[in-house]
Amino acid sequence: MLTVKKFGGSSVATAEKITAIAERVLREKQADEQIVMVVSAMGDTTDELIELAKGIDQDPYRFAREMDMLLTTGEQVTIALLAMAFKKLGQDAISLTGRMAGIATDDVYTKGRILDITPRRVHEELDSGKIVIVAGFQGADAAGNPVTLGRGGSDTSAVALAGALKADSCEIFTDVEGVFSADPRIAKGARKMQEITYNEMLEMARLGAGVMQPRSVEMGQLYGIPIHVRSTFSQNRGTVIREDYTMEEKSFVIRGVAHDEKVAKIAVLGVQNTPGVAHKIFAALADANVDVDMIVQSIRNIEKNVTDMVFTVAIGDLNQAKAVVDKVAEELDAVAVLIEEDVAKVSIVGAGMLGNPGIAARMFGALAKAGINIDIISTSEISVSCLIKSSEIKDAVNAVHNEFFPA
Ligand code: ASP
Ligand code: MG
Repeated sequence: MLTVKKFGGSSVATAEKITAIAERVLREKQADEQIVMVVSAMGDTTDELIELAKGIDQDPYRFAREMDMLLTTGEQVTIALLAMAFKKLGQDAISLTGRMAGIATDDVYTKGRILDITPRRVHEELDSGKIVIVAGFQGADAAGNPVTLGRGGSDTSAVALAGALKADSCEIFTDVEGVFSADPRIAKGARKMQEITYNEMLEMARLGAGVMQPRSVEMGQLYGIPIHVRSTFSQNRGTVIREDYTMEEKSFVIRGVAHDEKVAKIAVLGVQNTPGVAHKIFAALADANVDVDMIVQSIRNIEKNVTDMVFTVAIGDLNQAKAVVDKVAEELDAVAVLIEEDVAKVSIVGAGMLGNPGIAARMFGALAKAGINIDIISTSEISVSCLIKSSEIKDAVNAVHNEFFPA
């Protein structure tokens, strides 16, 4: 039996915690079990390294290769310490960088994608009786340069390794008990889900739920690896992310309420209502790699045949989006470009809502009852999202959650 166990930054934040993890893993180890561990950098190390780089230059990401040389050191600290902890406890173990573990990526530094994994070394070390500890969040390009996989990328390392090793299980140990029906810090009645599908988890992540890096869920789906998200600090079963439900869990049409406060709204007012205008705006944004989420085009003035284009972007992309849109707006002779940052998005997610319009109505009703105005609505096959004022996001999450998950 081969298992992959990933521990996140808060689980390995101190030497004591690292030792505690080694003890736990050995306590629970089955006689015939081969174990591969994937770990994150200790605590907030990655953020601290980024701050350090900002001491050299305000925008260190423009030196992307060097950023990756820097950021990959975080995980390398953890793998070495964890290997020492096992050895001290009498268990042979070895630490491997992403490259040593055979994780090959493209050369898009700081946002790398795994192209291929040849885990020959991992197998050899396992066969010699060692626990193998792999640095998360990293691989190497064809020239051997270290490449990181985007923030939260250790999840992806773990799931991809589990796939390449044809592991029997992939456990993601974290500081929460699993995937909840809403952020438990906000929604009082939030419950831990026993299971959730890859598609629902991806949609939850896209709409703001931060438990797992979305790419890791895609990897799980690609390789058909069930991902067990559970707590480092308890023995409890967490949430299993898989293709389909296997349990007769009380079936909720809605699997979760997600929210995202890191959004901004951009309105391009008074552009001509003629072919090619939307294309011009959104092609320019796409060229600048800015993802656009909710889009609304409205007729503003029929006599003058002008319209408004309203859409949302991630806060992190706002400056870039604004620069692009200002330029296009001038070319299009738009009346004005308005930016609103005090907006937030609340969403419901569930495969069960396909072809069930009553579900959206219930969401709007719950928001209306709480006196919350909806600015923009957008839908996908398995979600409905509403843009609202950011000051009302907590009330909105609770109102919508109570509607679909009554106490
Ligand atoms: N240490 C990296 C980060 O903070 C990767 C990870 O923890 O998954 O984003
Ligand atoms: Mg994480």
